[in-house]
Amino acid sequence: MNERADVLVIGGGAVGACAAYYLVRAGLSVTLVEKGELASGCSGANAGLIVPSHSVPMANPRTRRLAFKGLFHPQSPLRIRVRPDFDLLLWLWRFHRSCSAQKMRAGMGALCKLNHASLKLWKDLIKNENLACGFQQKGWLIVYKKEKAFREALEDRELLQSYGIKAEIFDGRKTLDFCPFLLPEISGGVFYPEDAHLDPARFVSALAERLRDLGVTIYPQTEVRSFESTNSKLTVVRTNRGDFRPENVVLAAGAWSSSLAKKIGMNLPLQPAKGYVISTRLPDNFPSFPLYLSEAKVAITPLEDSLRIAGALEFEGMDFKVRKKGVSRILNFSQDYLKQTGSHDILAVSSGLRPCTPDGLPFISRHPELPNLIVATGHGMLGITLAPVTGKLVSQIVRDEAPCVDLNPFRLFRFC
Ligand SMILES: Cc1cc2nc3c(=O)[nH]c(=O)nc-3n(C[C@H](O)[C@H](O)[C@H](O)COP(=O)(O)OP(=O)(O)OC[C@H]3O[C@@H](n4cnc5c(N)ncnc54)[C@H](O)[C@@H]3O)c2cc1C
Repeated sequence: MNERADVLVIGGGAVGACAAYYLVRAGLSVTLVEKGELASGCSGANAGLIVPSHSVPMANPRTRRLAFKGLFHPQSPLRIRVRPDFDLLLWLWRFHRSCSAQKMRAGMGALCKLNHASLKLWKDLIKNENLACGFQQKGWLIVYKKEKAFREALEDRELLQSYGIKAEIFDGRKTLDFCPFLLPEISGGVFYPEDAHLDPARFVSALAERLRDLGVTIYPQTEVRSFESTNSKLTVVRTNRGDFRPENVVLAAGAWSSSLAKKIGMNLPLQPAKGYVISTRLPDNFPSFPLYLSEAKVAITPLEDSLRIAGALEFEGMDFKVRKKGVSRILNFSQDYLKQTGSHDILAVSSGLRPCTPDGLPFISRHPELPNLIVATGHGMLGITLAPVTGKLVSQIVRDEAPCVDLNPFRLFRFC
């Protein structure tokens, strides 16, 4: 076991794997530990979209309205199981405070910059490392059934365009011409030509292979259980397979990060938001680009030999249970928009827990009191999109280099 390394990365999802990549490329010795198999967390169960266009933070006035509705409507895509849990209640209060139009705009600016940088890194990473993971930059079509939702989208589009995100607006007729796979009764669509998609689990496994070639030691089935610190330094990371004594530690454990942070006395405001992924056979003539069914909050991604239908945002704690009702809701909504979904031919159903912060921005930060601990988590709905830039920033933090994106909006303790 490689007990000593310059950096120990905790978590074998997209964020941990990308952090390991940029760290080893920066000349550091790196060990990665993962409690299960690589990509067994949320990075294996998502829509596989790389979407700078999705830069409106989750904390915004519309999501707040949806969250409120979700308390009373079981069919809502956003559900919160309210329970006597102090961390959840504090998180909800902070979420509510982050939903003002002004805070949303500031968050959007920060996310746009991060997303732009990540898209560029995505293209370099795929090309330079020749990673076979179905990466394609074919754009993303967002479809609106209701006129009101379409009008609101046009407002968002103007803001996004002011941050350099390109978009094409289609009325209902043009949306159907562009995507004949849709059923009629569409108010309009917005096409984001720069967005991309891939198979996320294949990406993590292809990158892991490359990491091993580059000298990263990867330990699957290795769970971090506790930490020891002396003189403002994390000195020992204890796992079920022995102790590690790295110079630096990167916490990239997704939705599990807050319980690990508690072990070092840190309160990390993260809530897991469960979503479902349904894989079906790829229907004939499905477009080569992914879709988003706006009102249903369902993403549909064509992969090489399957169709991935993903949706739901359920705040129910660390619970992976696949609720039949949640899955049927996603399939029913999809059938309202699409001529065929392949739903009679389901190949697999899984769930993933998005690590969500109250303001919808990730934590990418050195711990101010334990400077050899770097936290890289809380990416919510954008963990795949933002994995490369997060990895790059982590390597810059460890090496005390100037960051490629301003880190201030992503600092720890910004809610205190
Ligand atoms: C339905 C759905 C659709 C989504 N679609 C998209 C999308 O299209 N595009 C996008 O950008 N994002 C999407 N997301 C969000 C994205 O999947 C997540 O933000 C991202 O996967 C988080 O990556 P991560 O590496 O931080 O966490 P994870 O992938 O969850 O990885 C964390 C890892 O840490 C490990 N771990 C936990 N505790 C320990 C421990 N004690 N010791 C060692 N290892 C530990 C876990 O086993 C896990 O493998 C979607 C999410 C869902 C649920």
